[in-house]
Amino acid sequence: MSIEIGNISKYYGEQKALDKINLTINSGEVAGLVGPNGAGKSTLMKIITCFIPPSEGQVYVNGLNVSEQSIDVRKQIGYLPENNPLYDDMYVREYLDFVAGIRKIKNPGQRIEEIIETTGLTPEQNKKIGNLSKGYKQRAGVAQALLSDPDVLILDEPTAGLDPNQLVEIRNLIKNIGKEKTILLSTHIMQEVEAVCDRVIIINNGQVVADDAPGNISKERDNAIITVEFDSNVQAAALKAIKGVKNVKQAAPTTWVIESDTGVDIRSALFQFAVKQDMTILSLNKEAEKLEEVFHRLTQNKK
Ligand code: ADP
Repeated sequence: MSIEIGNISKYYGEQKALDKINLTINSGEVAGLVGPNGAGKSTLMKIITCFIPPSEGQVYVNGLNVSEQSIDVRKQIGYLPENNPLYDDMYVREYLDFVAGIRKIKNPGQRIEEIIETTGLTPEQNKKIGNLSKGYKQRAGVAQALLSDPDVLILDEPTAGLDPNQLVEIRNLIKNIGKEKTILLSTHIMQEVEAVCDRVIIINNGQVVADDAPGNISKERDNAIITVEFDSNVQAAALKAIKGVKNVKQAAPTTWVIESDTGVDIRSALFQFAVKQDMTILSLNKEAEKLEEVFHRLTQNKK
């Protein structure tokens, strides 16, 4: 149930969209592909799902080569394309029946019942797609992707345009599905990755610029920001004199925000400082760099 992406490049004429991408998405992983608009997310997804060929490199889905065994690969993949193209004039059941026919699904009636239930479409199952809310349309898109019970799900911007309630519902749905399947989803919302993914892959200008668990990526801040509250007044100059302290800012009468030099952990020095001054530290908080900040740092001004 794995996806192996080996040295993939893609050119649209002169335009380079992907630049030597190497990735392995393991069985059972929910991986989030994030990057600014134009980073190459959709292009990578279209290559994995056999919609367009790579210019260079190979992709294997469950050991099958997407260029040479595309029919077999497609059977193993459920794909929700960007903008979720649906037939507005079809009823939900009619649409799923239509997709089941195209995919030659055995016992389509039973499978459609299961999928309607899994994706929470039950209350809207007898409506026309055109009359569904955006959230239910997304569910219908996920339902068609899941219909053939694929091992691998590729979801291109599955939560684009949803309101906050619909967002939570679709994220929960993806998380549930992810317990059994390998999922690669794209988004430009970092909270989404934190909410649903075990792994975040940041791409920028067609290259992978970070690839790790969301928690590990956000710990990568070089210079820590520490907020410390003492039980009495402190002089800025005294704090600045501590080895490893780069900057200090007073946030409240006895609360200071301290930036340390790159790679230096000043917490124990701060405690020693407090002891020497006969003071107590009431609270001390080390801020990790937020995932959004990591994203911004890795993807800005690189064109
Ligand atoms: P993302 O999904 O991250 O927004 P895309 O994969 O859609 O990025 O696009 C990557 C780059 O390739 C962009 O510069 C985009 O303009 C270009 N691109 C995408 N599709 C085409 C196409 N069919 N023809 C020409 N250029 C394209």
